[in-house]
Amino acid sequence: MALYQITADPELATMKITKEKIRGGVLFDYVLSAEDERIVREKAVAFLKSGPHEEPPPPSVAEANKLMNLFGGRMIEENDVLPGYEELSFDTFPRGVEWAKAPPPKEKLADYKVLVVGAGLSGIAAAIQLKNLGIPYTVIDRQETLGGTWLWNTYPECRVDTLSYLFQYKFEKNYKWPEFFAARQDTLVYLKHVASKHDILKDFQFNKEVIASTWDESSSTWKVTLKSKLTGEEETVTANSVISATGLFSTPNLPDIPGITDFKGHIFHTTAWDHKVDYKDLRIAVIGTGSTGAQLIPNLGRVAKNLAIYQRTPNWIVTIEGYRAPVPSDLNWMFDHMPYYWNWYCYAAYFRSLDLAAVQVKDKEYEAKGGRVNERNDSVREALTNFITKKMASKPELIKKLVPTYPPLVRRLVMDNGFYDTLLQDNCELVTDSIERITEKGIKTKDGKEREFDLIVLAGGFKTSKYFFPTIYKGKGGITLEQLWKKDGARTYLGMVMPGFPNFFSLYGPNHQPRGGSLYSWAEIWARYAVASVKWMIENDKKSMDVKPEVNDKYQDSLDEASKKLIWEYSEGQSYYVNEFGRSGVNMPWTTSEYHAMVIKPNPDDFVTT
Ligand SMILES: Cc1cc2nc3c(=O)[nH]c(=O)nc-3n(C[C@H](O)[C@H](O)[C@H](O)COP(=O)(O)OP(=O)(O)OC[C@H]3O[C@@H](n4cnc5c(N)ncnc54)[C@H](O)[C@@H]3O)c2cc1C
Repeated sequence: MALYQITADPELATMKITKEKIRGGVLFDYVLSAEDERIVREKAVAFLKSGPHEEPPPPSVAEANKLMNLFGGRMIEENDVLPGYEELSFDTFPRGVEWAKAPPPKEKLADYKVLVVGAGLSGIAAAIQLKNLGIPYTVIDRQETLGGTWLWNTYPECRVDTLSYLFQYKFEKNYKWPEFFAARQDTLVYLKHVASKHDILKDFQFNKEVIASTWDESSSTWKVTLKSKLTGEEETVTANSVISATGLFSTPNLPDIPGITDFKGHIFHTTAWDHKVDYKDLRIAVIGTGSTGAQLIPNLGRVAKNLAIYQRTPNWIVTIEGYRAPVPSDLNWMFDHMPYYWNWYCYAAYFRSLDLAAVQVKDKEYEAKGGRVNERNDSVREALTNFITKKMASKPELIKKLVPTYPPLVRRLVMDNGFYDTLLQDNCELVTDSIERITEKGIKTKDGKEREFDLIVLAGGFKTSKYFFPTIYKGKGGITLEQLWKKDGARTYLGMVMPGFPNFFSLYGPNHQPRGGSLYSWAEIWARYAVASVKWMIENDKKSMDVKPEVNDKYQDSLDEASKKLIWEYSEGQSYYVNEFGRSGVNMPWTTSEYHAMVIKPNPDDFVTT
């Protein structure tokens, strides 16, 4: 595409793109035939040899639309064009917010204060947007530095399972990732690099937890109570607006197993890994086989004397191409020398991610004929079942325990870091009997069997429905989140604002987990909405904006309607996607393009403003 964009060589435009299944058919690769690929390579070599080439100006949205059509082998739908253009990342800040006219006078801006809670990738995205506009802000985080999730998940082999060329900001160009799927440490290096490049760290305060935040009607400000993690001291600060970027995976899910405090060996949650424990040759138990457990288990299996894997619900696990592969130097060379190659490479990862959404949609007609969910979902199930069956051929007694009975994508797909291979090892055991209790020496299951361990790893994930926990928010008239959410759990308008909580914006809030794209991009999009709202208030001399209850109610109805068409509330296999009320409260029911169109900018008519 980069070559065609630059040369407009008509032969390139005639090449046919075909879709090849990857990850059991959950996604597709968009490929050329071997012969066409050879021709493209030859043409690219000739072009590069005739260089060096100045980077031509980027295409307009309309021109890029034509290129995107060619790339996808079909007409891109209207709503997909702008999100796609942003992903192509031609602009310096593809999702930047700008003042409508000239920036307001400095004195006016100096009077405004935004408090951002959370210094993970979402908080950083918000901070950079605010800094670019010159709006004063402070980022508060209870940890000792930035990084969010990636700071406290220090368990062995923690790494992203989204391709790093997708899982990155769009305003940071041609970053040199060491591996295709960045290890935790490399993700932290990246976030620090971005923060230092944009010189935002001076406005961050660490080791402080936001414990309460109360709306003060008389001044139209939030009075926010911070507690030092180091001294326990409390202070109250005032903010005109609060942007909560506190993440979905901030509160560990510690299992409520009887006897858990009786255990005399080492026991810890994956978010609190005790690196002083040398686990080589130990007898280890892992409770939980979700994304974290499955990622961790192979490492433990390689060195443990024996490893027992306690699985309550099996997960659908897919292999992932290039999962631990380093980025070869020739790819980086291409990024540096072929104009726009990086843009299209990253766009390809984004475009591929959109194909997942269709696997989640219930097809009533298909179900009426006896199928489950939809034809593609069923075919994914078949492919993944075959994969497990083949993998576990030498231990057939495990196959039944490992093949989920619920359809793929009811829960988050788990990436294969060697989970099945580990189960084939002689020192590993899969335990599917329910746990009765933890004893002084180990774990007793309901079948009466007690296994002894030196180390128990709790890999039960996170309490995802406890949004904004532990902060006690009080909105207009003292309304609390519990009161607002008492019917069926956390809800917000567009995932970001709530009636009665003016000037409060959440990033990665309820029903905010996307069905395509990457969280970095979504963080930029959410930050754009929140910061554009703040900007709008400043420009229009407004002190507050509070979403109208009727706008919120209508949105919640359409959200429920849209959720019903999807699979998360499926009768079996429900996961952290579903809250304690049985409602899908984590995932966005909208497709990438639908939701992008809803939040491209705030609509002042949605709000009561003062
Ligand atoms: C092990 C692991 C692997 C993951 N891998 C992927 C992946 O490959 N792809 C993907 O898309 N997603 C992945 N995720 C999801 C991941 O959490 C997000 O992609 C992303 O890191 C979220 O960023 P965030 O800034 O929104 O939240 P976080 O990274 O969770 O940051 C939130 C910050 O808020 C702070 N905070 C919370 N409450 C308070 C408070 N009251 N006061 C002060 N500070 C507070 C926290 O200390 C934290 O620093 C993974 C999650 C985990 C746990």
